[in-house]
Formats: sequence, C-alpha cells, structure tokens
Amino acid sequence: MVKTVGYQESDPNHRLHKFNMQVPFFDLKAQYEAIRDDIDLAVARVFSSGQFVGGQEIRLFEQAFVEKVGASHCIGVGNGTDALFVILKSLGIGPGDEVITPAWSWISSAETISLTGATPVLADVDPVYYTINPKVAERLITARTKAIVAVHLYGHPADLPLLKSICLENRIYLVEDCAQAHLASFEDHQVGTWGIASAFSFYPTKNLGAYGDGGCIITSDAHLAENMRRFANHGGLVKDEHLVEGMNSRLDSLQASILRAKLPFLEEWNTKRKNNARLYMDLLGSAADVVLPLTRENAEHVFHLFVIRTSFRDELKEFLFEREVETMIHYPLALPAEPPYKGRQHPGDVEVSNLLQQEVLSLPVYPEISEEQIIYVCQAILEFFDRKAFKVD
Ligand SMILES: *Cc1c(COP(=O)(O)O)cnc(C)c1O
Repeated sequence: MVKTVGYQESDPNHRLHKFNMQVPFFDLKAQYEAIRDDIDLAVARVFSSGQFVGGQEIRLFEQAFVEKVGASHCIGVGNGTDALFVILKSLGIGPGDEVITPAWSWISSAETISLTGATPVLADVDPVYYTINPKVAERLITARTKAIVAVHLYGHPADLPLLKSICLENRIYLVEDCAQAHLASFEDHQVGTWGIASAFSFYPTKNLGAYGDGGCIITSDAHLAENMRRFANHGGLVKDEHLVEGMNSRLDSLQASILRAKLPFLEEWNTKRKNNARLYMDLLGSAADVVLPLTRENAEHVFHLFVIRTSFRDELKEFLFEREVETMIHYPLALPAEPPYKGRQHPGDVEVSNLLQQEVLSLPVYPEISEEQIIYVCQAILEFFDRKAFKVD
C-alpha cells in the first residue's frame, strides 16, 4: 500500500492516464524466459533418453508432487478431466448412482460423472466464496448418492471440514477437484488430502502448468491407487497385463520432465499471485460497486483467478478492453444453463450460480504481472465507476 502511494506521488502528471499499458490475461512466455535453462535441460534429457511414455521422469515427478501435497500416492494421467473420470470409475460409480457437484464450475466436474453413467446432481454454491454450499449438498443426498465432487474454484478451498463430516455421516465419498488450487490449504491441511482421492490439472495456464495437457491423481489409499493406475493404463500395471478394461490416459515423459523442472517454483509463483491479489484488494477496496473475492477463515487461497463481481460486468469488460486490459469470464454460463444440462430437472435451486454468470469478471493475476500493471488496471476500474457515478445521460 505504501508503495502505491509512493508511486502516485512520484508521478504527479498521472503519466499512466496518458497511454495505454498492455495487460494480457497471462504471459506464459515471460514465465518460460525466467526458467528457460531449467526447461531446456529437462526436455533435452527426455529427447536424448528416447523414452517418451512412462519411465523415470514420470516416477520422479509423481514422487516430488505427492511429497509437496502431503499424501502417499500420485498417478500421472493425460489431463485433469481424465483424473476425475479415473477416480469416479475406480470408486465403482456408474449407472443408477448420483454424484453431487457444484452448479458453478468448469464442466469437467459434471461431465465426468455423466461419462460413468451416473447422474450429476448440481448443487448451488456459497454466495461469498463461490464453492459448493455444503448445506445445499447435504439436502440433495438420496439413497443413490455415492459421492460429492467438491471443486476448489479459483484457488479457494471448498468448505472441506464440513463436507468431510457430511460425507462421513452419509457414508459417501468425498472427491476433490484441485485443478485450480495446487497447494491451497484449509486449517493447515492441503487440498487434495481431505477426500478419498483428488484430481489435479496441469493445463498450461493452471498454477502448475505443463507445455501441453497433463494431470494427476492424489490419494493415500494404496488399494484405490493401484486400481486407478491400472484403469488409466489399459487395465494393467505392466505391459500386456489387462486385468480389467481400462483406458489410455498417461502423463507423458516430456510433460513430466517440464513439470518437475517447474515444481520448485510453484510456492514462489503462488506467493506472487497472493501478493497480486492483496494489491488488488487494497486498490479496489474503495470501489463501492465492486464485490471483491474474500477468503474463508483458516483457508489459504492460491488465486488461480482473481474474480470480482459487478452488475456492470459487460460494460466494465469492454471499457478495460479499450484500455488494453485483457479480462475473462469464468464462466459465462452456470452448468444448469449449459446445453447438456438445460432440459433437466434440477432438484435444488441454483440462484447464486445464476447470479454469478451475470456478474463475475476475472482480472489478470498471473505471477509475472507487474505492480505498475495492477495499478493501471485498478485506476481504469476506478475511473469506470467514477464516470458512471457522474454521468448524466
Ligand atoms: C482445468 C480444470 C479441469 C480439467 O483439467 P484439464 O486438464 O483441462 O482436463 C477440471 N476442473 C476444473 C475446475 C478446472 O479448472
């Protein structure tokens, strides 16, 4: 905050207002430039090893990642969506079963439930933290319910203690979708260690991203881990073993080597995201028309996304676009409004999700963004609301 004031004082001519500063939504090239040597070494190692599927790179990355998360087993898979599918299939979920998941999420958490033959039951989310509302989820439990798939949306942990006790009481599984929340935690326990198993995505723009698709599953259940590893590898742990029918979903060696090279930077990148979020919170605190993202007590938010809300969302997005600030909407439609779910009966109401789809706007929060860029974005936002307040039309 002190820095911000200093910046403005040393800039009496409001230099920033006179030109547009480009602010992209993320900058993966800048990240590569910063760690180029590590990445180039890693991929060269794989290229010259001749081993592109399986092998040492996978084992070493799985080991390193599971140690960071604080669980016992890690299974590399093709992407985060497959990770969810493999978990659900290996838990025996299928036709006739119901699985509860948030109505406000990326589609993977719901579509993988349908892919098993089970029915996704979409629960509304908390109006403040945007993660699945445990009380709503509890009301949706029936005799057919087999699991709750909680999503740590935007990097904010779902209400894990309450979800866990609801699942225990009702003898159903808790599965975690950690695709947006690498190393986030609740009450000092990391996300990914609360449920029976959890899915991570290494899509390039995630907090830990590969240079292509990638994902993994974390669990501390040895028996389930073995079944999941089998299922993701044609039903066998070794070549030509097919104990069950499975699928081909593997993390490839090149992506594993890149992820292993990037992993030591993950905490530092998360810290930068948190600092960026704090600066946004400070600078936008005075904007009465903006709802800022709050963090649950005892939760460690890793700000995969910094999502504000305003009833003037589309106008603000356009205004920022003209100032060369790139923003995104996560997500334009709540799941019940998406074509595959639209015609269905939904047992609970989803009014929070319906409101969010009209109001959310994601501001750039990637680790490499500069303080000047964040200040520029905030000045533009404040100017937008000032103009609105004084506009006579
Ligand atoms: C990215 C994401 C996924 C899926 O990950 P992919 O690797 O793209 O398949 C699942 N759930 C959520 C919440 C995500 O953000």
